[in-house]
Amino acid sequence: MRVLLATRNAGKVDELRQILAEAAPGVELVGLDAVEAYPETPETELTFAGNALLKARDGVAHTGLATIADDSGLAVDALNGMPGVLSARWAGARKDDEANNALLLDQLGDVPDDQRTAQFVCAAAIVWPDGRELVVHGEMPGRVIRGPRGANGFGYDPLFVPDGHDRTSAELSAAEKNAISHRGKAFRELAAKI
Ligand code: IMP
Repeated sequence: MRVLLATRNAGKVDELRQILAEAAPGVELVGLDAVEAYPETPETELTFAGNALLKARDGVAHTGLATIADDSGLAVDALNGMPGVLSARWAGARKDDEANNALLLDQLGDVPDDQRTAQFVCAAAIVWPDGRELVVHGEMPGRVIRGPRGANGFGYDPLFVPDGHDRTSAELSAAEKNAISHRGKAFRELAAKI
């Protein structure tokens, strides 16, 4: 069975492909670069699950393939769960990781260390051509530190120390992060259910 992962991020395709190789060996996973191009799905929903479903439904509509899509972000407790679904665009539409991190640090300037808890959240959805739909969630709890550390990963990784670790998720290797990450958890649960 050929399944589309509705992303142009080759890292995400590789990560899910490895998980599926064990959990669902009959599945051939392809990314958006392997199918005929269609317009990017606007992420207009207010929840991770809503946006993941929008992208997965769009993939089915344009390609006829069963389609998986994910949506993720950082939910900071002191900010009532924001940036949340706005994580990529927190400092503006240009999706600038450095500007997003600077703004987040500024907003948390007065928040004491014991109140800087947060979690990365990921919703992963699969939609089949016959209309069946399934959504699962994964979370990685931790806290936001006061300055960036580490060069791996992307987005808010340099500011985030996962629970049980003293390194930021930008100081973990890809394998270490995938083993505990919101996306790794969601992808593994989805793979087990396909
Ligand atoms: P997307 O779901 O890949 O579109 O991610 C949305 C945004 O959430 C990213 O642009 C990052 O700002 C943030 N984000 C999601 N997952 C991670 C992660 O694993 N590390 C750091 N930032 C992340």
